[in-house]
Amino acid sequence: MTAPITPDVLTVPRKLPEGSRVNLVGLTRAQLRAALVAAGTPERQAKMRVSQIWQWVYTWGVRDFAAMTNLAKDYRALLADRFEIAVPEVVSRQISADGTRKYLVRIAGGHEVETVYIPEEGRGTLCISSQVGCTLTCSFCHTGTQKLVRNLTAGEIVGQVMLARDDLGEWPEPGEGSTAGRLISNVVLMGMGEPLYNFDAVRDAMGVVMDGEGIALGRRRITLSTSGVVPEIARCATEIGCQLAISFHATTDEVRDRLVPINKRWNIKTLLDTLRDYPRLSNSERITFEYVMLKGVNDSDADAKRLVRLIAGIPAKINLIPFNEWPGSPYQRSDWERIEAFADIIYKAGYASPIRTPRGEDIMAACGQLKSATERARRDRAGL
Ligand code: SAH
Ligand code: SF4
Repeated sequence: MTAPITPDVLTVPRKLPEGSRVNLVGLTRAQLRAALVAAGTPERQAKMRVSQIWQWVYTWGVRDFAAMTNLAKDYRALLADRFEIAVPEVVSRQISADGTRKYLVRIAGGHEVETVYIPEEGRGTLCISSQVGCTLTCSFCHTGTQKLVRNLTAGEIVGQVMLARDDLGEWPEPGEGSTAGRLISNVVLMGMGEPLYNFDAVRDAMGVVMDGEGIALGRRRITLSTSGVVPEIARCATEIGCQLAISFHATTDEVRDRLVPINKRWNIKTLLDTLRDYPRLSNSERITFEYVMLKGVNDSDADAKRLVRLIAGIPAKINLIPFNEWPGSPYQRSDWERIEAFADIIYKAGYASPIRTPRGEDIMAACGQLKSATERARRDRAGL
């Protein structure tokens, strides 16, 4: 959750010490309005000022109040005094042979998360993180071996989109604005962390990213992936409105308990019942079932057939993810023929069953390989 903006902080006269300015990035329009009013913006101008600042920050990527030339000079000075427009710092950037870019991003407190940009033909997907580490311990996931350090703020989540746009040089010149042919055309919450365990920040951040006046990615271009936090799933439809992906990965509770331990809390039947009720269900908005292909664990023909039976009646597509190995990972990727045979059974049952091409493996940027480098280094030192 974004830190509450207390009038005390905002009404302190003149020069706040460095670091104590309120970051505007990630505030909802209502929060931004409240912050501006608390800083002395007249009520009757507030809506207009929100729109102007919003456009500078989110349409044109401007970070400096002085450049906001449609605002009076004194007002710009006042804003600079009370607020900042800050995005997390990129500590390093690696570019894979296939063009995938992995950013190691430092957030307040010195913690680190990873953000990955995946260019594709005619589009590009940015995979963003919602937590440092994860409370869950899915046995095939590298992030799952790192304890949860903290939730990201809404500003840190939006900030990942902004820093990637910075790096890709994607902001239009002030005064211009086009959403055609965008490098970042899609955002997936599939980086580090379980987004539904950081619901409010993720909701607010996606509200900013989807806002039609700024970054303006449509809700169909955003996909939230969850391991199955059942009580929050309906809220994803009603409060965020983005696409939903479920990390399904197994067709029996016995196997899913081992792979995705949250299954012990909310098992396959409970999860599927919730998905059947998903308020926005329609054929044009299918739920994506993610299914990691683990050799000899969940990849048999019987699994494929069970999967089809289980999801009957749910508008769905099944995204098969070849397992991505990481140092010490206890599983192997299924053979390619096995993955194709599995996909074929699902396809013949009437579901789209794309196989996700592993991207950025050479820089450990593929699904489930992310983990803070500092954490990796610490564990290496400890010989873990
Ligand atoms: N925590 C959320 C989102 C992040 S993981 C979730 O679990 O859904 C994004 C996707 O990558 C999930 O489907 C996850 O199960 C999958 N994944 C994790 N580790 C993987 C690995 N080593 N190889 C392939 N996919 C993996
Ligand atoms: Fe957390 Fe998702 Fe990894 Fe499971 S798969 S440990 S929920 S990040």
